[in-house]
Amino acid sequence: MTSLYDLDRAQLAEALAGEPRYRVDQLWHGLYQEARPLEEVTTVPRALREGLARQFTAGLHPRAEVHSDRGATRKWVFALHDGATIETVLMLYRDRVTVCVSSQAGCAMGCSFCATGQAGFTRHLSTGEIVEQVLVAARLAAPRRLSNVVFMGMGEPLANYAATVGALRRLHEARGLSARHLTVSTVGVVPALERLAGEGLPLTLAVSLHAANDALRDQLVPLNRRYPLERLHAACRHWTEATGRRLSLEWALIDGVNDTPAAIDELADFAGPLRAHVNLIPLNPTPGYPVRGSAPERVRAVRDQLGRLGVNATVRDTRGRSIAAACGQLAAVTRGRGGLAVRARAPEGGAPARQQEHPEDAGQPA
Ligand code: SAH
Ligand code: SF4
Repeated sequence: MTSLYDLDRAQLAEALAGEPRYRVDQLWHGLYQEARPLEEVTTVPRALREGLARQFTAGLHPRAEVHSDRGATRKWVFALHDGATIETVLMLYRDRVTVCVSSQAGCAMGCSFCATGQAGFTRHLSTGEIVEQVLVAARLAAPRRLSNVVFMGMGEPLANYAATVGALRRLHEARGLSARHLTVSTVGVVPALERLAGEGLPLTLAVSLHAANDALRDQLVPLNRRYPLERLHAACRHWTEATGRRLSLEWALIDGVNDTPAAIDELADFAGPLRAHVNLIPLNPTPGYPVRGSAPERVRAVRDQLGRLGVNATVRDTRGRSIAAACGQLAAVTRGRGGLAVRARAPEGGAPARQQEHPEDAGQPA
């Protein structure tokens, strides 16, 4: 079944055929600008809303909610109409409000250190299911205005290309979010990356690199066997040249694995010619991956080494770590500060909650 948020404006107009034209504007404005749920778009008649509610699915059903950072980080587990579950995270900073969305329930990429990858793939999300996460978060962020969207939740957005691009366009066109405020994180699906560069879409790209030699990256990121570093580097170069945008490289620091001076030299060789920005993320432990994240002093040493090598690097803040750490344990129990413990219902097919540190550059809690 289609979600109301799967419809673009022309399709919504079709669904409202026979109604006065301004109804489309009212509904579009209510749903996207005001982020109201359909039943609360009271500018249009109740009968019309009820008709639409019968025709389209209401996508996201909250199953659990947890807070950390004194409420400045909030995570939801949502069930979709077929019972698959996803996670969405809202982060309130002093200068911005960011939502981290899932693009798939689970992930088929199998990165060894990632809880989502360890647990496997359930299904793709539709454009509407991605967009609705943003609208729900916008509603819950009020009175603050949601300003940034990052595709860093569950799933590989470029493996779900059409829905991801559809969601990016919708967020840009219907909510007016601009390039600096939309970020897609990819593990490096090279053909999709090349295609994305030609979409003329306003967005920021983050590539999850984690290793800059093929032997190690083959182990950490199995997709590297299909699209090795040379191809990935060429695709990154193409991206920066075609879009004129600076690229971010994500590097989850894994103790003794990719935090050695030699590994960081390789990273600098990869990043330097692209003039890429490096985001260092101390690895969060996951049940299926025994190795630990780098200690804080190693993290600082890595940042300093990159600085000496002329590579701009930031360490991602610890925002949301307490609840994200629990969420990596297969959505069994999610835990927030203050003893709040919520049991998240296990999804059909055991879709995972992913383990992650939260996106974007360092920022202060609101
Ligand atoms: N599939 C996409 C987007 C979701 S993952 C991608 O991989 O880029 C978002 C970020 O979290 C990625 O950079 C990913 O590598 C990172 N990540 C995954 N597992 C992690 C862990 N255990 N600790 C820290 N970061 C992790
Ligand atoms: Fe998928 Fe990204 Fe996790 Fe890899 S790191 S398994 S691509 S979600």
